[in-house]
Amino acid sequence: MADVILVLNAGSSSIKFSAFDVKDDELELVTRGQVEGLFSSPHFVAFDSKGEKTGENKWGDGQKLEHADAIAYLGAFLRGHGAGHRLIGVGHRVVHGGAQFTKPVLTSPEVLDELEKLTPLAPLHQPHNLKPIRIVAERNPDLPQVACFDTAFHATQAPLAQAFALPESITKNGVRRYGFHGLSYEYIASALPDIAPDAARGRTVVAHLGNGASLCAIHAGKSIASTMGFTAVDGLMMGTRCGNLDPGVILYMLDELGMNAREIEDLLYRGSGLLGVSGVSGDMRALLASDDERARFAIDLYVYRIGREIGSMSAALQGLDAIVFTAGIGEHSKEIRQRVCEQAAWWGIELDRKANESGGPRISTASGKVSAWVIPTNEELMIARHTFALIDDKREGAST
Ligand code: ADP
Repeated sequence: MADVILVLNAGSSSIKFSAFDVKDDELELVTRGQVEGLFSSPHFVAFDSKGEKTGENKWGDGQKLEHADAIAYLGAFLRGHGAGHRLIGVGHRVVHGGAQFTKPVLTSPEVLDELEKLTPLAPLHQPHNLKPIRIVAERNPDLPQVACFDTAFHATQAPLAQAFALPESITKNGVRRYGFHGLSYEYIASALPDIAPDAARGRTVVAHLGNGASLCAIHAGKSIASTMGFTAVDGLMMGTRCGNLDPGVILYMLDELGMNAREIEDLLYRGSGLLGVSGVSGDMRALLASDDERARFAIDLYVYRIGREIGSMSAALQGLDAIVFTAGIGEHSKEIRQRVCEQAAWWGIELDRKANESGGPRISTASGKVSAWVIPTNEELMIARHTFALIDDKREGAST
């Protein structure tokens, strides 16, 4: 009977899932999908490893699914489609591990209580990430579950890279730079030795350009600095988030524009970035297809901000050997990759246009000083690997 690991990534209104077969200690994707629109018009869809649809269900407008209902539905679907499979563990994406959890951890009621205490550091994500762990534990207390953190990969950063220039009365509460997208960067760091051994040993800036976007400075596989800080709103311009902002602007919104904290939060997280600047869309595909002047300006600003932050990451690395593009925009938009590389040409990047058109993995010429790459990320596989490793350790521990 094949062993299976389930990976869950739960947000406020959606649960994404993937299931991996364990075959001779290798993990192989068997199914993936999501339930989205939990509180508006729930929609479930599942695919096999080749991307063929294997299941779909729509609940219709006005219907609601609690996270517990969605997980029960998902469990029934997986049992129905997984004849001959045995679920051995569940891995979860959890946005914040704080200063305490710098590695994935097997969950327990005590661990969950500690993770709950980090909610003030990520109020929009942490409670939703933890909910499914409690739901699964209630139904199946003996099933091992593992929490994998978006912050953990950045725990190797030096105290200087993590610090804000604020007094201790504030920073003692955990107010510092943490960095996010860590599971994506960890996956890229694990893939680099096979794809680009020099980049794996050297000073590499990885650009995770999805709806959320950040850069990570990686030296010999370890995170040195990143553009995201205390929250995932810092750094690069994103789909709907503003990125770097003079804190004085927030005071201006409070004092002069009469906005309250929730209104400012909504503007910074959901009304800024590509969407706010263009007034057209937060989706890069729509902006690239638009001939609206504001859409063009939004793309110009997006590329300009990446260029400036590559400078900052390279300074932290004391040099630059390679750039890696990943996530939705990084993996699929040859135009954005081309523009970022052209802007960073002064570093010694020479774009190989043909290779860029065909998607890489190497998209720079051999003669350039700095190489450029496209590597698809796989955060789910990273979570499944961590989950399997911790379950395996537990089994070995039990047998010795
Ligand atoms: P998330 O951060 O939600 O996981 P993704 O990594 O899927 O998001 O990235 C979504 C972004 O990728 C969107 O802005 C989308 O427009 C962009 N994207 C996807 N495919 C393309 C493409 N072919 N060209 C340009 N942008 C693309």
